[in-house]
Amino acid sequence: MPISARQIIRHMQKTALDAVFPPGCVNCSEPIDSPGNLCSRCWPEMTYISAPFCDICGYPFEYHAGDGMICAACLKRPPAYSKARAVLKYDEASRDMILGYKHSDQTNRAPTFAQWMNRAGLSLIDGCDMICPVPLHRQRLIQRRFNQSAMLARELSKLGDKPAILDLLIRKHHTRTQGGLSARARFRNVRGAFEINPARISQLKGARILLIDDVLTTGATVEACSKCLLDAGALNVDVLTFSRVVRAANNII
Ligand SMILES: [Zn+2]
Ligand SMILES: [Zn+2]
Repeated sequence: MPISARQIIRHMQKTALDAVFPPGCVNCSEPIDSPGNLCSRCWPEMTYISAPFCDICGYPFEYHAGDGMICAACLKRPPAYSKARAVLKYDEASRDMILGYKHSDQTNRAPTFAQWMNRAGLSLIDGCDMICPVPLHRQRLIQRRFNQSAMLARELSKLGDKPAILDLLIRKHHTRTQGGLSARARFRNVRGAFEINPARISQLKGARILLIDDVLTTGATVEACSKCLLDAGALNVDVLTFSRVVRAANNII
């Protein structure tokens, strides 16, 4: 049967998309029609974070109690960053997808994750001058071969047409992984762990920074990064993560 020009174009478009997005469901690899999505089984399993939420840290509220509401944790101790937003709740449904991206070389998930982050964090992206990722220590970068946050920052830079300064922050110390640590220990673990790349200081002065990470757990890491950026002269720091932990009571930060 002769192949029509339209079929060839469609095939070429699909091949181009496959090169960017994984061909199957981003979570379970089940074949799907439109790459860069979840299948109909995985999609409803995820918990997408949407308003109403804390105006500062993005912690989701059960009901709408008025514009600009902030959670008890932010009221008690406001974070150094101005606003944090996330796409998905980090839970049983999303965990394997995120860990697979972070630890199993499934880096072709980055463009999809970044597209979702671009939607969830549109106002933060519009309001920033530059995007920067939470850095890995050089030793961990060698082990892992890529910085999962830098990949998201690079994709978001393309989507939002904002510069990504991937080496703005440097991780000075090879801190132990945050997994398994209490909230208090996490804050202690990353205190003083970051510094500004001396070659980037002049770009940072007076700039509005959008800090990117894959998961916000207690907020200890983004808090340490935000303090570092603000101390060095950034005007403002917002945070955009792919997912965040949502505890019953947001009293950790
Ligand atoms: Zn699926
Ligand atoms: Zn809050």
